[in-house]
Amino acid sequence: MTRTPEIAILGGGIGGLAAAAFLRRTGLPSTIYEQASELREIGAGLVMAPNVARLLRRLGVLEELAHHVVRLEIGWEFRRWQDGTVLSAENLAEACERLYGEHTYTARRSDLLAALRKSVPDDSVRLGKRCVAVIENGDRPALRFDDGEVAEADIVIGADGIHSVVRRVIADSIEATYSGLCAFRTLVPAEHAPEIARRNAHTLWLGPGHHLVHYPISAGKLINLVAIAPAGDYSVESWTARASIEEFLAEFDGWDPRLLDLIRAAETPGRWALLDRTPLRHWSRGPVTLLGDAAHPMFPFFGQGAAQAVEDAAVLAQCLAAQPDDPVNALQNYESLRIPRTTRLQEVSHGRSRINHLPDGPEQQARDKAFSDSDPLVDSAWIYEYDADTVPPFHIDTVAR
Ligand SMILES: Cc1cc2nc3c(=O)[nH]c(=O)nc-3n(C[C@H](O)[C@H](O)[C@H](O)COP(=O)(O)OP(=O)(O)OC[C@H]3O[C@@H](n4cnc5c(N)ncnc54)[C@H](O)[C@@H]3O)c2cc1C
Repeated sequence: MTRTPEIAILGGGIGGLAAAAFLRRTGLPSTIYEQASELREIGAGLVMAPNVARLLRRLGVLEELAHHVVRLEIGWEFRRWQDGTVLSAENLAEACERLYGEHTYTARRSDLLAALRKSVPDDSVRLGKRCVAVIENGDRPALRFDDGEVAEADIVIGADGIHSVVRRVIADSIEATYSGLCAFRTLVPAEHAPEIARRNAHTLWLGPGHHLVHYPISAGKLINLVAIAPAGDYSVESWTARASIEEFLAEFDGWDPRLLDLIRAAETPGRWALLDRTPLRHWSRGPVTLLGDAAHPMFPFFGQGAAQAVEDAAVLAQCLAAQPDDPVNALQNYESLRIPRTTRLQEVSHGRSRINHLPDGPEQQARDKAFSDSDPLVDSAWIYEYDADTVPPFHIDTVAR
């Protein structure tokens, strides 16, 4: 192939937009097809650890977000459910940049999406395009949309999230099993939140069968609140499903009263059943590949799902730019560079679902002691020091645009 390859990205979420932005940085144009009629994020907030912050900085996205993010001063602050006893905490203000050359930030997902949107040309995003099938035409795959349009390309990137259509051509089926857990997700206006939640801190409260996480976003105007609880017979895996404050409160009955005040002040929560999926061994088939949640859905316990989608995007762009004439080989390189890391993250995130939720007793006391003796910021160096721009063996010069 001597011409520039035509690249179709399915999905205009964080992963799809990041892919388009990184491809553009290497001089490769692409077209995003997104089912929604406008680009918007329903989920609330997310933590941007150094491994993703450094990539977003290089795209100019962090600068674009400067007035919307919060730079965390305290991270991985583990507290006991009943009374808030601190089990361990990291001084991010002091240690994060020294260890990893970058800070940890929090952002509202819609702000991140809007900033990423600015890094790709307007006419490269096609909205209202719901893909119903991927057609494997040898080296010219195509996307079929529900309005009848068929879009051919040289390369198809499935960034279409947890219920990916593209994944169906890569893996016959991916087992989604009941995990027994669900996530409540909501926002709290900071002026109504208790003082403990208004600090520049990423705080995790651990209790029997449950845990709860909060941190400020949107320049401190909002508090992001995510709580994991038993799912019962609830099995809806969706950003739009709702729960009530009463249901949320009932799950945390008896917990520290400051948390109950925080929940009472919250907006109507979303409720998301966490389904378990085993890691895929392959992400690509010919010129069709996967990225982000479509490739490696993971439990949110390390706050790395979106970060891994952005890392995928950076590595994929480097691989395609290095071998534009041989996309099939480039995609093989991409998946072999990425699968070991995302598989490890899927596995450690999975493991946390038991550790975080131990009932009070000797095992919980041993866990709390291990937390107080440990240094999560250093223990997770393999996550935070990873620089997706320098991972490929064939480091390339990027084209400034
Ligand atoms: C409770 C919870 C907390 C989390 N916290 C964090 C955190 O702190 N930090 C972090 O990094 N990650 C976090 N994550 C994970 C993160 O939200 C996801 O990993 C991330 O959103 C994945 O991005 P994506 O672009 O791959 O998929 P998505 O965000 O799901 O985007 C997929 C896009 O594809 C579109 N699409 C889907 N199907 C089609 C179709 N057929 N045709 C056309 N378009 C289609 C969708 O409309 C959507 O726009 C959390 C997740 C959960 C559940």
